[in-house]
Amino acid sequence: MARVSILIDVNKCNGCYNCFLACRDEYYGNDYPSYSAAQPLNGQFWMQMKEIERGVYPRPKLSYIPVPCQHCQSAPCMDAAQDGAVYRRKDGIVMIDPEKAKGQRDIVNACPYRAIFWNEEKEIAQKCTLCAHRLDEGEKMPRCVECCPTGAMVFGYLDDSDSEISKLSAAAAKEDFHPEFKTAPLVQYVGIPKRFAAGEVVFRDKQGECAQGVKVVLEGEGGKRETRTDSFGDFEFEGLEKNKNYKITVEQAGYVSRSFDISTRTDINLGEIVLEPK
Ligand code: SF4
Ligand code: SF4
Repeated sequence: MARVSILIDVNKCNGCYNCFLACRDEYYGNDYPSYSAAQPLNGQFWMQMKEIERGVYPRPKLSYIPVPCQHCQSAPCMDAAQDGAVYRRKDGIVMIDPEKAKGQRDIVNACPYRAIFWNEEKEIAQKCTLCAHRLDEGEKMPRCVECCPTGAMVFGYLDDSDSEISKLSAAAAKEDFHPEFKTAPLVQYVGIPKRFAAGEVVFRDKQGECAQGVKVVLEGEGGKRETRTDSFGDFEFEGLEKNKNYKITVEQAGYVSRSFDISTRTDINLGEIVLEPK
């Protein structure tokens, strides 16, 4: 059976929380025998939203990363469980057996993603099942994916080369969320926020006029990248590696070029860059 997966494009996520609410609606108070016990009213977030703040005023950025159970192919929760209380289906979905998991609190602490929650009343560990009960009934996708208005999440079968997710996975620079955990997640991401460097270009002799179309070159980790200032004279390089050295050069015919050495220990805002006429 082909493995299932969700590909999450962080650039398309606007933080609307529809996926979170859809998950709550599907599972709060609803038992799916042999799949999952009902979520309690409080304390369980099978679809978590991580809010990532970057930069500072006047260039702050806020990104949202939806984080369900990652359905790891090397899953610490399975290792921690007794009596097969956590198991992997043929389609790759990692499940917690609601009966066998009774009393096994250690399962909760085994997950490095903090994707497992303890149900005090029922004394069981619980988490996202990728809506396995729906898939087995013939539904095409989990509720969270179905309710996403922006297409930030794509669900499908990884081993089917014709599926949308396979094609997107092949084309995109996908990555694990927290690759340092080394759990080989089936859930994959595109556009996890990294560092950015930005600035605003103005011409000394044309005050009040936006310096549009100025060439800005970035050199360093990953090679050379080039952009042009927008209609406000602003430029930005996204997706820079953390803690690396780069050089930014601003060039415009008829003006003295300016260069800046930067280090991406933090996000960089070079502020106003004034170009002097030659
Ligand atoms: S994310 Fe956590 S709960 Fe999900 S499979 Fe991986 S280790 Fe287990
Ligand atoms: S529903 Fe889609 S856009 Fe909204 S928070 Fe979830 S992933 Fe992001």
